[in-house]
Amino acid sequence: MASDLDKNQIMKNFNITMKYFKEIYAYIWCDICQEILSVPIDRNTIAEKLDTGLYMHSYFHTNPLYDPEDPEDNSNNPHTSLIYIDKNHDVRGVRSFFGREMSSDEIKKGSRIPIVIKAIPKMVLQLGMVSQEEFNILKLCDGNNSIENVAEIEKIEEFKLEKIILKLRKKGLINLITRG
Ligand SMILES: [Zn+2]
Repeated sequence: MASDLDKNQIMKNFNITMKYFKEIYAYIWCDICQEILSVPIDRNTIAEKLDTGLYMHSYFHTNPLYDPEDPEDNSNNPHTSLIYIDKNHDVRGVRSFFGREMSSDEIKKGSRIPIVIKAIPKMVLQLGMVSQEEFNILKLCDGNNSIENVAEIEKIEEFKLEKIILKLRKKGLINLITRG
C-alpha cells in the first residue's frame, strides 16, 4: 500500500476541471483532507480576476468525509485550499494549509522565496516588457511560494525558472529571500 507521502506525490497532479456555461467544477486533491474535492467556481469571477495571468481561488473548508475514529485525521480543522487557475480555466496547482492565511511554516526552512517588489500592471505585459510566462511567474511570487512551488504550478523545469528569476531580478521586479 502506498504511504500518505507517496499518495500525495501521485495525487497532487490530479487536477481536472469540468467546464460548464456559467461555472467550472475544479476537482482538486486536498492533501489535508486526503480526498478529491469538487469546487464550483464562477466563470465571471475568473474572468474578472484573471488579468494578472492566473486566478487564485481560495477554498475554505473542512473535510466532508472526516473520520473521527482516525487519530491522525485532523481534517475537521478549517483549512484553505488555494487553487491556481489559468486562462483556459485549468487548474495549475493547489496548496492546502490550515486557517485562512498561509503561515511561513508552510514553506520549508532554507527554501528560496521569490517576491514581487511592486504590483506589476498588465501594461508591462502589453508593452512586451515581460512575456506571458514571466508575467504568470510574477503572479506566483506573492511570498507564498518557494521556487520549487512556482516551478510546480507553472509546470516549468527548475533550471529554466532559475534563469527567468535571475532575469526578473535584474529588471528589478522581484527579490529573492531565503526562509530562515
Ligand atoms: Zn481539505
